[in-house]
Amino acid sequence: MSIDYSIYIGPFVRCKVEKKEVEKERRTCPHKNCRNHDKRISTAFCSFCGSKIEEVKYKEEADAVNWGEVSEKIKDTLVCPIHKNGEHIWIGNRIDDQCHLSYDPTELESGYDVCQDWMSEVRSFVAFYVEEIRVLRQEYGETDVVVLWGIIHTGS
Ligand SMILES: [Zn+2]
Repeated sequence: MSIDYSIYIGPFVRCKVEKKEVEKERRTCPHKNCRNHDKRISTAFCSFCGSKIEEVKYKEEADAVNWGEVSEKIKDTLVCPIHKNGEHIWIGNRIDDQCHLSYDPTELESGYDVCQDWMSEVRSFVAFYVEEIRVLRQEYGETDVVVLWGIIHTGS
């Protein structure tokens, strides 16, 4: 078992994201009453009713903004480690970024860092990532993008 855990301390961007219905396709039994209708099937015929398997359209709820596409647009200069409950959390990822502290707990020695002034850290972050934040506002909407300061912990 491997553990991937990290701690980010500093400014981050919280984006609210709506849900929308997206139309997708899957290979399945085309008969609505068949018990295999909602299952993805890789064989040529349905094992239950014998119908020929077809590409069938279905609807699924998804985030109105695709964080993976946003990631590509900003060339991973911010990363989105948390994307659930109608929120996408973006943190700094530029190599020259001095706006935050980031730890891998497995390499962490005892010690401490003092936050001098979180408001000025937020201001530096906003100035440093001005272009990225512009893109986020464009994607999520002006009022759904907020820069906050805090601790982001992610693990898998
Ligand atoms: Zn069937």
